[in-house]
Amino acid sequence: MDVILIYLFIVGLFFGSFYNVVAERLSNNESIIFPGSHCVNCQHKLSWYELIPVFSYIALGGKCKKCKKHISLQYPLSEIATGLLFAISYHIYGFSMMCLISIIISSVCVITFISDCKYMIILDEVIVIGSILITIAYLFLGGFKLVLSHLISGVAIFLLLLVIKLLGDRAFNQESLGWGDVKLSFLAGYVLGIPVGTIYIFTSSFLALPYAIYKTLRKKDNILPFGPFLVISLLILFWNLDGVLRLIRLYLGGRL
Ligand SMILES: [Zn+2]
Repeated sequence: MDVILIYLFIVGLFFGSFYNVVAERLSNNESIIFPGSHCVNCQHKLSWYELIPVFSYIALGGKCKKCKKHISLQYPLSEIATGLLFAISYHIYGFSMMCLISIIISSVCVITFISDCKYMIILDEVIVIGSILITIAYLFLGGFKLVLSHLISGVAIFLLLLVIKLLGDRAFNQESLGWGDVKLSFLAGYVLGIPVGTIYIFTSSFLALPYAIYKTLRKKDNILPFGPFLVISLLILFWNLDGVLRLIRLYLGGRL
């Protein structure tokens, strides 16, 4: 077993714990740094041994040490998910700049998944910081030329989704897509390129379709967070970028 793989999984657990704080607090307009971690029910200040990812949850039996209120499974699950995403990034790309880019995208995806599922919010800060970090990585990989070509793709996919949103808003006479979804698609286009970025819009909608049908059939409100489907589709396509591009070429080549 690769030592770095295990190391990145453990590092991912800790980052996942931090991403929960980011998603929760920024969605509620709170400071990330202050106050320190505490129980949301009784305000009990958590000591270091209550802050170890997954381990503390198991050791405390999933309850706050003081008030015994249940701690949401969201915490250990998203910590494990982040650990796995970091490890998968290394498994696919090895020790490389692409691995780092994959880790940055994974991080944006985890935070967006939590904040959109729970609060229907996609945080601007997360998209901006993610884009800046990826830009620095691209600069190292291929200089300004590479950044520029990715930037064009990002803007193109952003505009494509913007048009879909504006048309959808008119057709349904209500907000069809959130602004957060449109902004997130800039980042998707930025890392996927135009052809795969276009496919990303279709795969995200396809993934969301069963849930949308379920909600309509149950006659609940027809509002659903689209972010989780966008980030799952983004990660799957990014990890298989070369394969998907080859498929597109094969398909178009056969048609021409
Ligand atoms: Zn408590």
